[in-house]
Amino acid sequence: MVNWSDSQEEKIIEILENGGACRKCCQRFLGKKQSYLYKTVHQLEMDKMSENKQSKPNPCVVCLGILQDVYMMPRVNEIITSIKTSGYDADKFTLSISLPISLSIREHSLWLHLEKAGKDIIDGNLSKEDVTPLKQVWKYVYPELVTSQVGLTHESGDTADFYVELVVLWEKDTEEMKAMERLCPKEYAERAKKTNVYNMGVYSRQGVDNSLENIKYDNFAPEYPVPPAVPDKPFDLDFRMSRNSIWIGGRYNKYTRHLPQTPWLIKGVRKCGSSVEELIGDRLKEYLQCEQVKFLSSGREDVDVRMLGSGRPFAFECVNSKKTKLPQSNLDELTKFINDNHESVQVNGLSPVSKSSIKKLKQGEEEKRKKYTALCRTKDPYCLETLKKLEEMTDLVLKQETPIRVLHRRSNAFRDKVVHSMNITQVSPTLFKLEAIAAAGTYIKELVHGDFERTQPNLCTLLGLETDILALDVEEVFLEWPLEEKNGNK
Ligand SMILES: [Zn+2]
Repeated sequence: MVNWSDSQEEKIIEILENGGACRKCCQRFLGKKQSYLYKTVHQLEMDKMSENKQSKPNPCVVCLGILQDVYMMPRVNEIITSIKTSGYDADKFTLSISLPISLSIREHSLWLHLEKAGKDIIDGNLSKEDVTPLKQVWKYVYPELVTSQVGLTHESGDTADFYVELVVLWEKDTEEMKAMERLCPKEYAERAKKTNVYNMGVYSRQGVDNSLENIKYDNFAPEYPVPPAVPDKPFDLDFRMSRNSIWIGGRYNKYTRHLPQTPWLIKGVRKCGSSVEELIGDRLKEYLQCEQVKFLSSGREDVDVRMLGSGRPFAFECVNSKKTKLPQSNLDELTKFINDNHESVQVNGLSPVSKSSIKKLKQGEEEKRKKYTALCRTKDPYCLETLKKLEEMTDLVLKQETPIRVLHRRSNAFRDKVVHSMNITQVSPTLFKLEAIAAAGTYIKELVHGDFERTQPNLCTLLGLETDILALDVEEVFLEWPLEEKNGNK
C-alpha cells in the first residue's frame, strides 16, 4: 500500500473526481485496502442521503453506481426483502456478485487518465495492480448490511449451500466491448467469428484484462474515451436465490399391476395415468417446495409387477429446495403426506441421504439379489415330485438373450444370470407358485416361459411341460437402504 501525503491524495482524488469516479472508486484507485475506510465512506453517503439535500450524482464512470449508495442501497433493500420472504430454511448464505466485462475497459480508461494527469505524483508510487478491485470493495460494505437484516450468517467463498447471486447488467456492455475488436483487431476480430468455440462468448475477463495491460494511452485513446463517458443511467441488477440439491432416500411398495415405475410414454403419448415416480415425486416437490425432483432407483419392475416386502430402494434429488431441515417428525409427516396420495404406492424409511450414497443405490441395481414370487400355470396337470426337483437346483446359471418384449429399448445381448434358489408351492393341479432368489437383472418371466428358447434353461425345458407365467411380484430387494448419514440429519 502506498503512503500518500495529504496533498498528493487530494490531487489524485481531484483528478479522479473530475474524471467521473465516485468516492469509493477514488479510494480504490489510491490503492486503499482497509475495509473500515470504505465503511466510513458508506456511512457518509448514507448520512447525506438521509439529509436528502444532495441531488443525485452521476453514475460513476468505473462502477456504474455499484459502489454508490444512492444507487446500490435501494437494490440491497430489495434483496433483503426477497431473502426474508423467500421461505428458505437456511442458516447460512453466500452472496456473490458478477460484473459486466466492459467494466475492465472503463477501469483501464480511468487508469490511463490518472496516469497522464497525475504523472508526477504516481510515477514509481502506484501501478494499476495497486487499484483495489471493485468486487473486493463491494464485499467490504454490502454483504454485512444484508446479513444484519436477514438473520443468516454470511459465508464468503461460496461454501454455504444457500446462495444469492447478483448479476450486474449493463445495457451498453456489448456495445462497449466492441472497442476490444478495434484495440486488438488480430485477437478479437478472429474470436468474434467463432463465438461458439468459446463458452463465455468472445471475451473472458482474464483475457480482456491481459490484453488491456499492454495498451498505452496513445493507442487506447483514439478508440475509447479517456476518461470513460459518464453513463446516462446506472447499472441494473438481476438476482437469483438457489440452493444446492439435497437427496432424500427411502423404499417404496407398489400394490397394483397397473402402474409403471416412471412416466410411460410411447412416441410422446402417455400410456398410463401416473407412475410411481410421479406419485411420490409430486408430493415430495410440494412438501419441500423445490424447483425440481429427479428420481433414482435401484432397478425397476414392470408395470404389471407388484413391489412387496420392505420395498424397492429409491432416492430423489431435490433441486433448489426451500425446506431442507427434516427432523424425524417432518419425515413422518412427509411419509404420511405421500402415502395418503395413493393407496397403491406407499413409502417407508424416508431419510436424507448423501450424494455419495447414491452410488450404492445404483450398484445395488447391478449386484444385489432379489426375491420374486411368480404364479405359474402348466398346460397339462403337473407331477408335484418333478416340480419339487427345482428346489434342489441351487445357483442355476441361465443364458438369457435380451427378451423380445424389451428389444425395442435395449440392444440384443446374451447374459449369464444366476438363480440362487427356487421354492415351489402347489396351488392347483395346473397352478403353482414359484419363489425364486435370483441375481439382479434376471428376467423372471423369461425363466418361466423361455421366451422362444431365448432363455436357457427355462421351466418348460426343466419340467418338460409347457409353462406360462400369470403374475409376478418382487418380494424383496436385498440392499441396505437408505444408509444413515454419517453426520446425522441436517
Ligand atoms: Zn465508483
